[in-house]
Amino acid sequence: MSIHIRGVSKSFGTFKALDNVSLDVPQGTLLALLGPSGSGKTTLLRIIAGLEWPDSGRIEEDGEDITDRHARQREVGFVFQHYALFRHMSVFENIAFGLRVRKAPKQEVEAKVNELLHLVRLDGLGARKPAQLSGGQRQRVALARALAIRPKILLLDEPFGALDAKVRVELRQWLRRLHDEIGMTSVFVTHDQEEAFELADEVVVMNHGRIEQRGTPEEVFEHPATPFVMDFLGNVNVFHGRVEKGQAFWHGIPIDYPDYPHSQARPARVYLRPHELDIARAAAEQPGGNAATAAAVTGSLPASVLRIARSGAISRVSCRPDGSDTELHVDLPTDTARDLSLQPGERVTITPRKVRVFLPDPEYVI
Ligand code: ADP
Ligand code: MG
Repeated sequence: MSIHIRGVSKSFGTFKALDNVSLDVPQGTLLALLGPSGSGKTTLLRIIAGLEWPDSGRIEEDGEDITDRHARQREVGFVFQHYALFRHMSVFENIAFGLRVRKAPKQEVEAKVNELLHLVRLDGLGARKPAQLSGGQRQRVALARALAIRPKILLLDEPFGALDAKVRVELRQWLRRLHDEIGMTSVFVTHDQEEAFELADEVVVMNHGRIEQRGTPEEVFEHPATPFVMDFLGNVNVFHGRVEKGQAFWHGIPIDYPDYPHSQARPARVYLRPHELDIARAAAEQPGGNAATAAAVTGSLPASVLRIARSGAISRVSCRPDGSDTELHVDLPTDTARDLSLQPGERVTITPRKVRVFLPDPEYVI
């Protein structure tokens, strides 16, 4: 089943939690809603679920308007971080709950629950109470309970958010396999970029109740549409530069920027990811002052090394580009850094392999 969200807005008092959001979720997709806390992810998910109603706009299911239908009439399954299991019920009864409410025959309930226990790899644990399970097992029970009613769409709101990192990684890989196995349409909410990228076919980045960008993980990461997306995806060097006549200038280095052909210069921000920068020891300056040597490398920037920090396989070299007050971080494989053996105070040249330029938008002034 495909879901179409059309121009949905929702306010709480004067606060606009969703601002004219439109989104298609094609049949069979696993879509991640990714954004910081308060960006409207849960509100959007609850509106898709039929637990919350939009002020304007509508929700369609295979072309049919279902905006006014309550959750019970929508055939949705949900797993929320705090959508706790019934503590006094066994695992079996928790999973059976939706089927019993729908008055399914006893034998059918039994067969279905056992099938689900097997699917979520909890065979033989049906008699346990939730308190006798680990956090990861409990969330798998919550998932089995959501799947019991054979939902057409599965909605997950930070389902693994309360679990420790190792279990979280295992469960997300397992969820991905499960999604493919049962051919479900799923929407997964998370504020964790890595989780979204690993799990999802497509990522929708949200900010202030709006969609900033939608695309495959690769598209979003390689071609962030806005400064917000770039920042949110983290770990980036930001510099102030300018654009003019089809070029952006960063510390005097020209970068092709055909999107701005105008002759009137405008300030711009230049984004550089630490792992997309090359660093090399600067050629020694000639006595008597042939100071142009370092800058002669086309498109590279002279800088001084401030410090080197190692964290496992990656080393981070912090530098200060000449004429700048802002530090520039370069990430290198630790082996490469060791071979280069840079020392604080040394002169280097930094060459970006990839540069992204954004013209300032009043919303994103930093
Ligand atoms: P997210 O899931 O991305 O963290 P939410 O959708 O939960 O964001 O919330 C978006 C904004 O709407 C938040 O600022 C939150 O405080 C507000 N909000 C959400 N639900 C309610 C509500 N029932 N009453 C008042 N404000 C709410
Ligand atoms: Mg939320």
